[in-house]
Amino acid sequence: PSGVIGADAGRVLSTWPQIADRFHTDRESHLELTLSQNPLLHIDLRIAPLRKGFHVTAGFLIVVRDITQRYLAAISLQDANERLQAQVREIERLRDELHEQATHDALTGLFNRWHLDDMLPRILDRARMDGTSVAVTMFDIDHFKQVNDLHGHSAGDALLARLGQLFTERTRPEDIACRCGGEEFILVLPQTVGRVAAQRAEELRQAFRNLDVPELNGDRPPTLSAGIAEFPQHGDSQDALIHAADKALYLAKESGRDAVRRAVGGSK
Ligand code: GH3
Ligand code: MG
Ligand code: MG
Repeated sequence: PSGVIGADAGRVLSTWPQIADRFHTDRESHLELTLSQNPLLHIDLRIAPLRKGFHVTAGFLIVVRDITQRYLAAISLQDANERLQAQVREIERLRDELHEQATHDALTGLFNRWHLDDMLPRILDRARMDGTSVAVTMFDIDHFKQVNDLHGHSAGDALLARLGQLFTERTRPEDIACRCGGEEFILVLPQTVGRVAAQRAEELRQAFRNLDVPELNGDRPPTLSAGIAEFPQHGDSQDALIHAADKALYLAKESGRDAVRRAVGGSK
């Protein structure tokens, strides 16, 4: 602006007391300041006292640079960065949600068949290497169709959900409890022999019959049958083991239901 050159610095800078206030000390300073918001004016300010001998300050060298554009660019970069981070967090949340949906059954919260097909071969590989047993138990609710017929489909759903809860409460972190079809469930117990799996299935069978399910309007829940196969005695592959467990389950049904049967030929 005209009239600045040669004028008294204190007077020229009086418009911006933020600057004027800073050159009363005789130390050097370097800082950034926002002088006005509208229009935005952001400056880089350097003040250096000019010395004339010891303890005597002759004046100040004041360098003011308008860095408004750089300042705005930095702010918008930071905004973009924060938006990007929020998007990454959202993508991670969706990915976790998708994985949860892809591996779990919505009604019972248990794993689904897809996850079992993914995990069981790995569990068997591990057991093969370690020389340990794996028990595969197949459960099926007895006369479940009657629950739907007598109390309605939603009562049937409630019963399935309660059984899911029971499995969740009674499984170790390394076990895989899976709902693999309507009222059929598979429990995979790594490092477990058939005899121990039979005890666990027996406990579940009894806990199931003692469930209190309000949706059944005072009726006792139906009973539960189970068939157990053991790796490696009853099969070396997922298919062979599930087939053997299914056969044992069939025998439990044949024998009058409400029963746990182990596949024949188990040696432990
Ligand atoms: P069994 O003792 O021989 O096992 O007899 P069951 O009645 O349990 O077996 P069946 O296979 O004849 O009937 C199973 C029924 O389960 C039929 C089907 O309508 C019902 N079902 C399957 N999925 C669901 C579900 O998600 N919810 C409900 N409420 N019912 C289901
Ligand atoms: Mg069935
Ligand atoms: Mg059934």
